[in-house]
Amino acid sequence: MRIELATAPGSPERPNEDWASGALPASGQGGVLVLLDGVTPPRGDDGCVHSVPWFTARLGGALVELSGSRPDLPLAEVLAEAISRTADTHRATCDLSHVRTPQATVVVARWGERVIEHLVLSDSVLLLESSDGTVRAVLDDRLDRLPPGSLASNEIADATVRNKEGGFFTAAADPS
Ligand SMILES: [Zn+2]
Repeated sequence: MRIELATAPGSPERPNEDWASGALPASGQGGVLVLLDGVTPPRGDDGCVHSVPWFTARLGGALVELSGSRPDLPLAEVLAEAISRTADTHRATCDLSHVRTPQATVVVARWGERVIEHLVLSDSVLLLESSDGTVRAVLDDRLDRLPPGSLASNEIADATVRNKEGGFFTAAADPS
């Protein structure tokens, strides 16, 4: 299997907040792919003494380890456990209830001999190419279904839709 990875920062003034990894587990069957796109907080206010790259590195590392080592866990449970683990590493120092606590979009794919599992959260996209060359996009379109203007830079509006039922979800500090 050949795996190629590339990321680039969204703007040259900011550190790269993306995180990507592929792994081929030692069993020799299947593999996993993890991609995170860190969410840049407005004015740097996120209640966290760390940084978005700090967060994506920890969440991404936990996702690779758990998706590769726990084939018994569905990917949604893998993500919940990875979020819990990451939250535990800064619960004592940071305000994890802050609506802009470090967070990321998520793509996880895990494949074996016969089955591909995938999980897509927020506005990153997974493209699956079948053996006949057909490409299918896997999308979480909840962000696109918000009423126009509800994601303006207005943080009060933001807090009513971000990681709320009826709004949209990112991987932040709440495993549920
Ligand atoms: Zn923190």
